[in-house]
Amino acid sequence: MSESFPHSVPKDIGWIEVIAGCMFSGKTEELIRRLRRAKIAKQSVMVFKPTIDNRYSESEIVSHNEQALPSKLVTSTQEILELAKDAKVIGIDEVQFFSPDIVDVCNKLANQGKRVIVAGLDQDYKGIPFEPVPQLLAIAEYITKTLAICVECGNPADKTQRKVVSSERVLVGASNLYEARCRRCHFIPSE
Ligand code: ZN
Repeated sequence: MSESFPHSVPKDIGWIEVIAGCMFSGKTEELIRRLRRAKIAKQSVMVFKPTIDNRYSESEIVSHNEQALPSKLVTSTQEILELAKDAKVIGIDEVQFFSPDIVDVCNKLANQGKRVIVAGLDQDYKGIPFEPVPQLLAIAEYITKTLAICVECGNPADKTQRKVVSSERVLVGASNLYEARCRRCHFIPSE
């Protein structure tokens, strides 16, 4: 656990971990890695993702490199509170697609003594902070920023480049619509 907990390891309290970054930075991979290790330690794990994200699988969270973990699709944050009652470790993927009260739900779960691990995009395709991730970063005990590699220049990338013109903030897709770019190579597509 040392790499997740640089200070000291919590013993009898809950806490929140946020894994934030752009697309193709390995957020889901990192989430799956942490949850797998909790499962190996025989801790009860529950994984949630919002119904908006059905890119790969209805009942699993899957990273771009096709690692998978069984997960529960939910439409509201209140469902998470109810379904997570008996779990010790809660994973939430694509957390940017939940309503702002996900912040309150994560706090409640952590206050119940649970380990809450959330992963999500910290910026939209314009590079603007993507609520509720900034709010979650503020209340989390542990923060990991994952970086991708800029497809244009090879520098560390923390921006999601949209490859098509659309003013929708949420446009679900993968490498057909997006790629990772550094701040120098990132731009907002316009007609
Ligand atoms: Zn670049």
